[in-house]
Amino acid sequence: MKELTLFVRRKNKARLWKRLLIASKFWWGSSEEKGRKIYWAKWEKLAEEKEKGGLGFKDIHDFNLALIAKQIWRVLTEPTLLMSKVIKGKYFPVGDFFSSQPHSYDSWMWRCWLKAKEVIRLGARLSVGGDNNFRIWNSPWLPKFPSFLPDYVHRDGNGPIWVKELLNDEGNEWNKDLVCTSFSKRDAELILSLPLSQNRGNSKLIWHHNKKGHYTVKSAYEAIRLFKQIQIGTPESSDANKGRKKMWRSTWKLNIKNKLKHFLWKCINDILPTSTHLIQRGIKMDDICCLCGCEVETPEHLFFQCSRAQDIWKMAPVKWTNHPEKKNHLKIGG
Ligand SMILES: [Zn+2]
Repeated sequence: MKELTLFVRRKNKARLWKRLLIASKFWWGSSEEKGRKIYWAKWEKLAEEKEKGGLGFKDIHDFNLALIAKQIWRVLTEPTLLMSKVIKGKYFPVGDFFSSQPHSYDSWMWRCWLKAKEVIRLGARLSVGGDNNFRIWNSPWLPKFPSFLPDYVHRDGNGPIWVKELLNDEGNEWNKDLVCTSFSKRDAELILSLPLSQNRGNSKLIWHHNKKGHYTVKSAYEAIRLFKQIQIGTPESSDANKGRKKMWRSTWKLNIKNKLKHFLWKCINDILPTSTHLIQRGIKMDDICCLCGCEVETPEHLFFQCSRAQDIWKMAPVKWTNHPEKKNHLKIGG
């Protein structure tokens, strides 16, 4: 029950935020003596994976939910365990975990579990190949994150209702014609690609984000983060995202000191404390470049346009011939 203790210790949101603040302060170098420093990027940014442009810090709240969901997964997939029987008998003697609702008299533990229910929904799906005795349109069974449901197709009321109806009489192959006429093209292809095992037992609950179908805290945490990204409209598979991932991966792999990598991270995220940025943060100061004294100190000026910077570039063993467009700015993507 280590996971539960962990959550209980951080049950108070204010306490959780205090922890995040301490982590933030540590990262940005703030201390009691020196006073408050500027936090140049949001905690959410720091908590993103490194290959997605963050620093890979764990979001404590999401990580806790993933830990709690592990206990729930155990109860759902191993119903014969004593713990599973006790939990079911006490909290949802009738019906299943997913339909259980919160009550004012619920224990603290159970309230935490109900909060983590959504994490389970982000990865739990029924495997085909058992008895396939579950509903087509409202049971999570398609390997399609995050809904795991087929797209709605207008039906006249005579179509199949149960997954087992989509199989041939022997129950060992998909009824291709029926599948193609009952679903969208994309879903039909997905269904026909699902292997059917000869095991005729009950259909099992499997974890979508693990090849073996086993729940892991790491994959659950990643599923939560991915779902959040989808919600804010940055789909994983877009070409721009793929290019960005490649860029970050090669940046973090560079054979240079870590502090230089973090300096690059700040450059690319445009959070260097140049005078223009400091002024934007409310600091009263002169915005003219302190090296040449001629122009405004933007990151582009400091690193590329400033006469001093150009002198350094001339001495550096860098050829821009293949990437002339990258010669004068720090932004990602050309
Ligand atoms: Zn200058």
